[in-house]
Amino acid sequence: MIVVLKKNAEKQQVEVFSAWLHSMGLETHMSVGENHTIVGLVGDTSRVDIESIMALDIVETVRRIQEPYKNANRKFHEADTVITLSTGAKIGGGHFLVMAGPCSVENEEQIISVAQSVKAAGAQVLRGGAFKPRTSPYAFQGLHEEGIRLLLKAREATGLPIVTEIMDAQHLPLFADIDIIQVGARNMQNFELLKQLGKLRKPILLKRGMANTLQELLMSAEYIMAGGNEQVILCERGIRTFETATRNTMDLSVIPVLHHLSHLPVVVDPSHATGSYQLVPPMALAATAAGADGLIIEVHNDPEHALCDGPQSLRPEKFADMMNKVRAIRPYADRSFTTGQLALE
Ligand code: PEP
Ligand code: MN
Repeated sequence: MIVVLKKNAEKQQVEVFSAWLHSMGLETHMSVGENHTIVGLVGDTSRVDIESIMALDIVETVRRIQEPYKNANRKFHEADTVITLSTGAKIGGGHFLVMAGPCSVENEEQIISVAQSVKAAGAQVLRGGAFKPRTSPYAFQGLHEEGIRLLLKAREATGLPIVTEIMDAQHLPLFADIDIIQVGARNMQNFELLKQLGKLRKPILLKRGMANTLQELLMSAEYIMAGGNEQVILCERGIRTFETATRNTMDLSVIPVLHHLSHLPVVVDPSHATGSYQLVPPMALAATAAGADGLIIEVHNDPEHALCDGPQSLRPEKFADMMNKVRAIRPYADRSFTTGQLALE
């Protein structure tokens, strides 16, 4: 349920109103916009009498929200969420952020060399997996603790903040100094992990599961946000369809749909979505044009010998070339559809 307050509502009246709602066991989420203040109610609102709220002086309108996600809902929070990293780099609300680096951290020379190249090309965040979710238990599983140490070393060398994947809440202490924690597609519905991440106050990159709907993605974001961590970045990384020509099917139309449904930033991962380095630049440009708030791209200095995902990794020169094109396309990105009704049959 959302309550839209009148423009001239006095602070003290709003406080009394909030206290009354809290006394009914509801949580309130205030969003002060340019034109009005929205109070989002989270909890069991079935006992709340709309008429008696409508009758209050300070209230303009009251609406029930159909969607099960509340904190992630744009109806709760009209303005785009903007997330700021320690370097001052921002994502959301018109700020575009590119994260790039190898699928996995392999050794010090590799991660530092890739970090330097992606930074020179304009990436603002270094990616690299230390804990890798591999289909085969016999495949390279990542360097674990040592991988995290090398990522932090690369941050020291380049100043780039780090995004890396967590697979188990038990590993959280190792992630204390990591800037953005990634939840991989395979863990999008690991609800216990999401609850633990909800207790943090740092950005979470939440990847869409390969067979999950947008509503499920937003409900997973809701798990994190319900714990009080509002810094969630949504990521489209391709879904499973009947098509086998590409590793996954890149679901581009989710970009405007997610912007419509939610205020959270949306990034696209064309590397995992396509599986081939040749397809990454065109799909990165398409995502940029469709209004993504950022990209996450796999880049490797020696893709032929990469321990994971070499075929979808760009060489640094190709990444730099792609970045030039992304910058050229950015002014034409279409973010015109956020509010109003999505016309569907
Ligand atoms: C990754 O980013 O390396 C990764 C494993 O991604 P996903 O969870 O999207 O498969
Ligand atoms: Mn990968």
